[in-house]
Formats: sequence, C-alpha cells, structure tokens
Amino acid sequence: MSEYTVSRDPAIEERILNGIKDALLQEEYERLKVWHISDILNPRQAYLKRKVGARIDNVSALMFIAGQGHHIVIEKAFGADEVVLEYDGVVGTVDMELEDLLHELKTSRTYAVYVPSTLPKGYPSQQRYYMAMKYTDKDEAEGIIDVLHLCPKGTDASGRQVMDPVLRSYRVQYTKLGEARAEISAGRRLIEDALGGVVEFKTLPQCPECLAYKRRKCSYVIECDKLCGI
Ligand code: SF4
Repeated sequence: MSEYTVSRDPAIEERILNGIKDALLQEEYERLKVWHISDILNPRQAYLKRKVGARIDNVSALMFIAGQGHHIVIEKAFGADEVVLEYDGVVGTVDMELEDLLHELKTSRTYAVYVPSTLPKGYPSQQRYYMAMKYTDKDEAEGIIDVLHLCPKGTDASGRQVMDPVLRSYRVQYTKLGEARAEISAGRRLIEDALGGVVEFKTLPQCPECLAYKRRKCSYVIECDKLCGI
C-alpha cells in the first residue's frame, strides 16, 4: 500500500490564481497612474485600460509571474536593479545595466531558438525607446537583448530529443534615437487627446502585435472593435 494518496483540488487552484490576479491587478492600477513605454507601444490598449479598467486572465497572469521570477533571479545574480528612466512624462523600466550596457531580459516559450533574423520585432522596438531615454544626447547606441528560451526543441550529444532551457544574448545597434524621442512625445499626446475626446479612438495606431494570435489574447477586442466601427 502506498504511503500517500493524491487528489487534485480545483478550489485551491482557483484561490491561488485569484490571489495572483488580484495582486497583479493592484499593481496594474498603480501603473496606470503614469505613462509607460508599453502605453506608447500599445496605444489602443493604453486607452482601453484607462477607460474600461485593467483586466487579466489566468494564462496571462501565470505567464507574467513566470517571466517576472526569471527576471528577479537573473538581476539578483548580478546585483543589478531595474533602471527607471523618464522622458517627457513617460516612464521606461530597463531590466538591468551591466558594464554600461542596457540589458532587456525576455522569456520565450518558442520551440525554435531565435537567430538575429527571427528575433521578435517587439523586443528591439521596445529597447529602442529605452535607449533614446537613457542617451538623450545621442542619436546612436548599443543595447543587449537576453532571451531565456524555456523549452526549445533540440537534440543532445547522443541524438536524443530534449527540451532544455537555452540562454541567448544579442547585441543590437540602434540609430535615429532622436526620432524615437519624438515618437515617445507624440505618442503620449495622441493617447491623451483620444482620452480627452479631442481625436477619435480609431486615430490611435493599432497595437503592433495585434495579429490574429495576439488579438485573441487581448482582453479588449470587443471594445476595440466597437470603437473602430468593426
Ligand atoms: S484588439 Fe488589438 S489593437 Fe485593439 S487593443 Fe487589443 S491588441 Fe490593441
């Protein structure tokens, strides 16, 4: 006879999930009091979060804490704190600065390990703004994007299929940082104008990752389509 029995407890799962979501929503409501680079990158979401209120589903909550956990461990390993930047009323939080280089840490669940040409465009798009905020007197600078691949498909030395975590770091050369600074200012003003009713919601650019897949994951699809007359 076994020394223990196991049974699943959905009520405890729900209690934990709700606790995580409540804590994240509380954080999000605090974040919504100021403008962030994520607002500039996702203007329609920035508007809807402020008009409709913050939302989070189970999958997004669990993905978020998984990524956040990796960030904390890596930053602690280097004794590096997040770097908080500000430009024209918009805040940017950089994961860490090592040897005078800004690092952006990303966690990926893709089966294929990225190469420079397949690195998601959203990564450098975001870091470009951080570079522009950090080096306000420069038009060019270099940043680092570190990607922790959690479960890439690969083979070990004996040819056996494995899904072992892999870390990849990429150097990215940024140019036209002056243009990026102008985009930050203009983006903030446009969202404020939309919230103030000066311009229509549909004037805001579509969030760049709003392809079919990401769109399904967005909690504001119904409101967004309605305001765009779709
Ligand atoms: S549906 Fe797309 S464009 Fe609209 S808020 Fe969501 S991600 Fe942005």
